[in-house]
Amino acid sequence: MVKDKEMTQDNEKVWTPEELAAVNAELESKTPEEVIRWVIENFAVEDFALACSFKELALLDMLLKEKPDARIFYIDTGFHFKETLDLKSKIEELYDITVERHVPEVSLDDMEKIGGPKLWEIDPDKCCTIRKVEPLRKVLSALKLWMTGIRRDQGPTRAGIPIISWDVKFGLVKISPLATWTKKQVWDYIVEHDLPYNMLLDNGYPSIGCVPCTHPVVDGEDDDRAGRWSGHKKTECGLH
Ligand code: SF4
Repeated sequence: MVKDKEMTQDNEKVWTPEELAAVNAELESKTPEEVIRWVIENFAVEDFALACSFKELALLDMLLKEKPDARIFYIDTGFHFKETLDLKSKIEELYDITVERHVPEVSLDDMEKIGGPKLWEIDPDKCCTIRKVEPLRKVLSALKLWMTGIRRDQGPTRAGIPIISWDVKFGLVKISPLATWTKKQVWDYIVEHDLPYNMLLDNGYPSIGCVPCTHPVVDGEDDDRAGRWSGHKKTECGLH
């Protein structure tokens, strides 16, 4: 369902879930770059953004090569590793961009008053809602499409993700151009294009989030999401 020129310029178009399902079938066989081009042809630059957790550097590189003024944002939970923030600075310098920073409305002090000390240990879902989900909701309320770097091979909870769909939770279109890619393909891209990456990945962290909830993995933990929320059943932040 590639649109003609007139339709592709119609940025007021509202996509129905049925239309998105048809587009999804079409995009399933496309490369991530082709998926990104579909976004650029169908959405104004101010209406979409890549949600960056500084793990999707291959996607960020592809997007900025196609659209150098594309919006990139991150949620500053207040708990990022120094290595993650160093990587953010490196990316900003490398691409000459500013990664938009969005913070929770509830400060760490106020969160302690609401939920007690170390809420992430007592109730990580509540902590993620305050520090990630609600700030993300605020950002997404001003967008028509958000782009994520999630992939089907990142674990059972992501095995069935579509490339594009209507995000019921946040009320906009969601697209994941790397959905069909494997971890190896991502790393091959990073190496081939000599991209920077989080140094923690070389030190036993397969997945990197907030400091209190991210730990190096032990031998035998091969899941890409291993090392997150150890001791809890939780495997997702509530964003996907
Ligand atoms: S990952 Fe941990 S510290 Fe970060 S928001 Fe979620 S529960 Fe809180």
